[in-house]
Amino acid sequence: MTIQEKIAALRDQLRQYNHDYYVLDSATISDYEFDIKLKELEALEAANPAFFDSNSPTQRVGGGITKNFETVTHKNRMYSLDNSYSKEDLLDWEKRVQKVLGTDAIEFTCELKYDGASINLTFENGQFIKAVTRGDGFQGDDVTKNIKTIRSIPLLPNGDFVSNFEMRGEIILPLKGFHKMNEERAANGEEEYKNPRNTASGSLKLQDSAEVAKRPLDCLLYQVVTEERKYKTHFESLENARKVGFKVPKTMALATSINAVFDFVNHWDTERHNLPYETDGIVIKVNNLQQQEELGYTAKAPRWAIAYKFKAAQVSTILHEITYQVGRTGAITPVANLAPVQLAGTTVKRASLHNADQIEKLDIRINDTVFVEKGGEIIPKIIAVDFTKRPTDSQPTLYATKCPECESELVRAAGDAKHYCPNEFGCAPQITGRIQHFISRKAMDIDGLGGETVDLLRKENLISSYADLYDLTEAQVIPLERMAAKSAQNMIAGIEKSKEIPFEKVLFALGIRFVGETVAKKLAKHFKSIDNLMVADFETLISVDEIGDRIAQSILDFSNDLSNIQMINRLKHHGIQLAVSAASLENQTNKLEAKIFVVSGVFYQLSRNELKKAIEDNGGKVSASISKKTNFIVAGDNMGPSKLAKAQDLGVAIISEQDFMGMIDY
Ligand code: AMP
Ligand code: ZN
Repeated sequence: MTIQEKIAALRDQLRQYNHDYYVLDSATISDYEFDIKLKELEALEAANPAFFDSNSPTQRVGGGITKNFETVTHKNRMYSLDNSYSKEDLLDWEKRVQKVLGTDAIEFTCELKYDGASINLTFENGQFIKAVTRGDGFQGDDVTKNIKTIRSIPLLPNGDFVSNFEMRGEIILPLKGFHKMNEERAANGEEEYKNPRNTASGSLKLQDSAEVAKRPLDCLLYQVVTEERKYKTHFESLENARKVGFKVPKTMALATSINAVFDFVNHWDTERHNLPYETDGIVIKVNNLQQQEELGYTAKAPRWAIAYKFKAAQVSTILHEITYQVGRTGAITPVANLAPVQLAGTTVKRASLHNADQIEKLDIRINDTVFVEKGGEIIPKIIAVDFTKRPTDSQPTLYATKCPECESELVRAAGDAKHYCPNEFGCAPQITGRIQHFISRKAMDIDGLGGETVDLLRKENLISSYADLYDLTEAQVIPLERMAAKSAQNMIAGIEKSKEIPFEKVLFALGIRFVGETVAKKLAKHFKSIDNLMVADFETLISVDEIGDRIAQSILDFSNDLSNIQMINRLKHHGIQLAVSAASLENQTNKLEAKIFVVSGVFYQLSRNELKKAIEDNGGKVSASISKKTNFIVAGDNMGPSKLAKAQDLGVAIISEQDFMGMIDY
């Protein structure tokens, strides 16, 4: 086998595995084996740049930064859909269609209306070329780099299909992935995303495609646009699209009469709550493509299609009580406790009220009758009060002034939507929450110790801070409820092992407000030790890349607190990694100190990420876009022409990968 054949074979295999996993939902190879093959292909491609292919499976990890998304005019306009809200509306639409076509026997297709962000994928000669958002329907943004990271989109459809075409679809965030992203945000003390749709559409406009690659986005297709007259019906074109690798949901169905359309609508009106993603309606289309052409378009929408919108599930119930929850960072969330009521297949007893402003805006009071809705948002929300049912003796709601757990006076900083309990070290949920965060997988990753045990240990007064974990002995924990000798042993061993966790994770584990995983990495890299970080002043902190006022202030608050200083000393005494290890300092120099680099194009010896790491390890800075401040552009193959022009314009030095290696004596 020649190298070229070997590369082609690996690409084919990886494409097939991607399809099995991301489109068919059935893994046919382990992640580990997949990774080995991908690495093998990466190495072959790196050693044989002549065979570079922008649609290779290796090109899906992202890494390209887009500062400004280019505006692109759609070859075929992307229309909206007319909406309908009742069966009468649908019958009216059927009549209009029948009249134009001059026949009563019309075949329809029924599809779910996927709730995300529309996308137009262009394919030429069977190859993926570009992806553009809907925009205003005439022009959209080129988001190709970001879309390429979505593994369920085939970059090279495989099989008999049209060759020059556009695929129209919806970029969505399935519920499971959405929840997972929010859990991580909550764990980092960050505000949670509101709903999957906004999060999906926001993801398309992220500047760093490597970030997009990390999000569990999916793409569901609903239309093939082509001048090749290979298929006679919409249904047939989509069935064939599915065969060559596109994710066309199997929920799509043919309906030979409007009554069959009603059946579909009725079925999904309730069944939609069991889908892995959100839908807000049904789209009904005339199936025959020639009939579609005859019907044409209004100024806004096709005449051959109509959306049927489900009513957002809504009920009314009584508000019994407002309680307040305290999070790990002390943030208070008001919760409405409702008379239990059935809504969209689940019993709802509670709804979030977000913050004091929200309560004031709704003017919600105890014993009010309220409307609860479960629409785009996952957590039911209270949309309004039924003022006609308000009891005459009702009193305005006074927001809590004291912490429900520790009675401390709540505080609210200017500009903050939330109230906080300031009693960091004496408030039970904060103590437990902080320790639970400390031991979590992305932090100290302590095996053998779970969230409930932490709570138990705290209640038994065995721990009141994460530093206390390191003083625990087997003898102390064995007497605990449901604690066997073996699990006690595992727990202590897990705690012991966490002493090897590297500094950047320890820093994240400390639970400093606003210091999430990424920020912790940045800080660890810059300051190299907790001692350096704890003495940094405000100016020093904000001079670090990506550290703003809010984070800087939070770090200062942390390092000025005596209890924290004592805690750090105890951790130090126990041998926790509170500085970057010598091994990771190896290969690091100051050769590129104060030099700003922009990396652009495709490289061969190092991957983009390795290149960036090499710049940072040697004291340089990587910037996403070219400006007067840029010192060097490391230019690989296929560097964008606009970047090149800008660099020449500003007189920035353009160097090759080789030149760069020379600079650092690689
Ligand atoms: P609207 O934004 O309400 O005008 O609805 C039109 C949008 O619905 C289109 O731009 C598509 O992005 C989206 N959509 C979701 N599912 C479908 C589907 N099955 N067929 C057509 N459009 C769909
Ligand atoms: Zn408290």
